[in-house]
Amino acid sequence: MHNPIFSLEVFPPKRDAPVGTIYDTLDGLSGLMPDFISVTYGTGKSADRTATARISNTIRKDYGLPAVAHLTAQYIDKAQADEALNMFEQAGVSAVLPLRGDPVPGREPAGVFDYASDLISYIKQTRPQMTIFAACYPECHPQAENLDQDILFLKKKVDSGASHLISQLFYDNEDFYRFLDKARAAGIDVPIEAGIMPVTNEGQVRRMVKSCASRVPERLETMLERWGSDSAVLKEAGIVYASDQVADLVAHGVDGIHLYSMNKAAVTRRIWENVGDLFEDEDSTVSDKDLANQA
Ligand code: FAD
Repeated sequence: MHNPIFSLEVFPPKRDAPVGTIYDTLDGLSGLMPDFISVTYGTGKSADRTATARISNTIRKDYGLPAVAHLTAQYIDKAQADEALNMFEQAGVSAVLPLRGDPVPGREPAGVFDYASDLISYIKQTRPQMTIFAACYPECHPQAENLDQDILFLKKKVDSGASHLISQLFYDNEDFYRFLDKARAAGIDVPIEAGIMPVTNEGQVRRMVKSCASRVPERLETMLERWGSDSAVLKEAGIVYASDQVADLVAHGVDGIHLYSMNKAAVTRRIWENVGDLFEDEDSTVSDKDLANQA
């Protein structure tokens, strides 16, 4: 048995949000000691291109934790990829999560990196020293024809250089176990972390499952119907639901848990209080091998 990885995701605040909110989030998360914190990359026109590198740098320098910087591929060319990667390296970040990114209506792709695997290959060739992560989809990516085909493309990401996978959110662990069996059968042998997004608000979860084409299992549907209009109670139920998911996944020996913090430090802390003891820290797979030199 190995010790599961525990990691978190944060996102840069919107341009019009007070800049300090991300530091409040990171302060609120301090003491949890995740193996790393990943920082998303905005694709929208108004997204601040430097935010991911700046926040990653803060995580590393001020909080002493390894950071993984996301980078979306389809709207950038090689010069822009280099610019972003240089920024990450100057910020001391040696791990990157290349993604294709979601299509932005009305915006023409650059036509250089059509898929995440194209950017992964480019980084592998030009910066072999970087650790490369990639995304995976237990319930199939919404644009893929089916899960088997999606897994073939996932294998391509691993063969191109990704050495660590993080999954999209899911609310039924059976979907993750089924995916894991298929991925292993396809020869994907890198660590696969399970992505858990706590339910805190009915509108938000309905939007997320719609955009991810994710299933709402009966148990969660009942919760949403019962407490959807009482956000304080739904949040409590959501913390229990996410904690239950994590306990079951760790009991099944998964490689790791990636908690989508949604920048909600208090909720993340509550889940950690429930499940933190399930993660022993002695020989953590990821920080030792891939990321320790960063912090
Ligand atoms: P890809 O791996 O390129 O796959 C996209 C689709 O194309 C899939 O349907 C796949 O089956 C298919 N495909 C792949 N390769 C080929 C090929 N060679 N030929 C034909 N079809 C192919 N979005 C952001 O904007 N910023 C973020 O920071 C961000 N972080 C994320 C983190 C995680 C862990 C996850 C799971 C998602 C994240 N996303 C983020 C969302 C992500 O950008 C979208 O899900 C996007 O639609 C797919 O990105 P990908 O890298 O998985 O795409």
